[in-house]
Amino acid sequence: MATQEDEVISAEDIQIDISASRLGSSQTSRHSIKCFKHCSKFVFCFELPDYCPVCNLSVLGSEILVPPSVYKSPLDHGLTSQPTVLVRPSKGKSFLHDYANGDDLHCGLMDENGLVHDFTENGLSTSEEWLNCIHAPIDYSPTLVPMNTRLCKLKTDWLAKNVRYHPETANCFGFVLFCLRGLGLYTDMNEEEFISEVIIPRTSEAARYIAIYRQLVSGGGILVQQTQN
Ligand SMILES: [Zn+2]
Repeated sequence: MATQEDEVISAEDIQIDISASRLGSSQTSRHSIKCFKHCSKFVFCFELPDYCPVCNLSVLGSEILVPPSVYKSPLDHGLTSQPTVLVRPSKGKSFLHDYANGDDLHCGLMDENGLVHDFTENGLSTSEEWLNCIHAPIDYSPTLVPMNTRLCKLKTDWLAKNVRYHPETANCFGFVLFCLRGLGLYTDMNEEEFISEVIIPRTSEAARYIAIYRQLVSGGGILVQQTQN
């Protein structure tokens, strides 16, 4: 599926800038995207059409080259106990609907129970899982002490430092790194290395999905592959 998508769409019009400056600083859609290839070109859609938009033959009434499958959203990772760094647009925007290139981003750390710990102008908070955000799983091996308990201690340490939020010097990303390092993770990486090695690999697939989603919405729910390569 990944190679099909690579061939079909360019995500050049969506750029998710995961620089540290953007990490300072939803609306949900449950439309699932399907993909199939009846004859010569891949087709993305929300609902399977009766007739192939390429050759106009009945999709289900004639031979189909690649049967329909769901194009799983990289912004929706389902239930998991894998601790993860989550990234979403700041200011209540949604990646799918109103994120624009260059918008500020916000990040948090999700523990193995699905609770997200983050730091904003209002201080520390804990919330349920964020929807429609980028997931960057972290390399965490469970210990005898639950991660949640260890994070409680780290948050107490953070508060004891009397950290006042600053969009560039003491922000959500700084808090996430503080927690990861307190857990003994990624201690040999600086900010830029962590972003490029852990976060960036997840943004290109998200950008591609967002581009396809938006073209489907603006194009009436059907998107035909334009090129073979
Ligand atoms: Zn066809």
